[in-house]
Amino acid sequence: MTTTSHAYGAQGADQALAPLRITRRAPGAHDVQIAIAYCGVCHSDLHQVRAEWAGTLYPCVPGHEIVGRVTAVGAQVSGFAPGDLVGVGCIVDSCRHCAECEDGLENYCNHMVGTYNGPTPDAPGHTLGGYSQQIVVHQRYVLRVRHPEAQLAAVAPLLCAGITTYSPLRHWKVGPGHKVGVVGIGGLGHMGIKLARAMGAQVVAFTTSPSKRDAALALGAHEVVVSRNREEMKAHAQSLDFILNTVAAPHELDAFLALLRRDGTMALVGAPATPHPSPNVFNLIMKRRSLAGSLIGGIAETQEMLDFCAERSIVADIEMIRADQIDDAYERMLTGDVKYRFVIDCASLGQ
Ligand SMILES: [Zn+2]
Ligand SMILES: [Zn+2]
Repeated sequence: MTTTSHAYGAQGADQALAPLRITRRAPGAHDVQIAIAYCGVCHSDLHQVRAEWAGTLYPCVPGHEIVGRVTAVGAQVSGFAPGDLVGVGCIVDSCRHCAECEDGLENYCNHMVGTYNGPTPDAPGHTLGGYSQQIVVHQRYVLRVRHPEAQLAAVAPLLCAGITTYSPLRHWKVGPGHKVGVVGIGGLGHMGIKLARAMGAQVVAFTTSPSKRDAALALGAHEVVVSRNREEMKAHAQSLDFILNTVAAPHELDAFLALLRRDGTMALVGAPATPHPSPNVFNLIMKRRSLAGSLIGGIAETQEMLDFCAERSIVADIEMIRADQIDDAYERMLTGDVKYRFVIDCASLGQ
């Protein structure tokens, strides 16, 4: 039997989010049914719901930073039982047999199904995300949450912001003895600072606003550089092993590439709506530097990240909101007025 759930979503690109009733499939043999407690608000939600990216399907229910409790499991489910604390991130399905899926990198599968706006046989024909009170997900894509329940709301943003920053830090083997730059101190960047610090690196945070200096230090940065200050930037020339660049607005990459030492890499995780100005190739050639990109992370690595954070009591810094505050939250997100992630209390969806 399908179930109905309170949700929040939009019926068109020019429409505000509003309460909706949606249906979820009955749990199949491999499915986990989850009562959603909290859902983080990601920039991607806003892009998708407002059709700033191509191909938004309506009704659109965003949300891919989901945490909650298992309410039912299918007959073939092992490892999850009713009552368990769990999470669901950006991926709810993939082809399960390509080279990427076999390597545990479902995030790079050509048939990855996003938690919202992805293809599904379920009504209404595309996936509906976490701004809802319930979701049903194949066990392969469900994560175990080992944080204490009191931290649950602040765990939600780890499912996108956390893994998006953890995965490149791990892939480029950031650790003790490394000097790492984190560019941008927003939802992604604040997690990048916490994680790079926890991995043992010397962390330099880069921001355009001097007013964020103290906040970045409080997050764990050893140093803060105001990137508009040429003298401050120059002081770090050719000194960084790795840069995690979280900024989604188009900007000059050369200013940061020049800070990498020989063989250093800058990984981009922010997706700008229009391209960055092309970097000067000399900046890459002269010190054998790399410019790279990274997309969220695979399921196994997401579990590794959650466990890493649980062991160290790492969570996101959040501001809790009710469902009827989502549109206001979007406007505040656009002006950077959030420290550092909004999280929806999904109990408010039915009120
Ligand atoms: Zn996201
Ligand atoms: Zn695949």
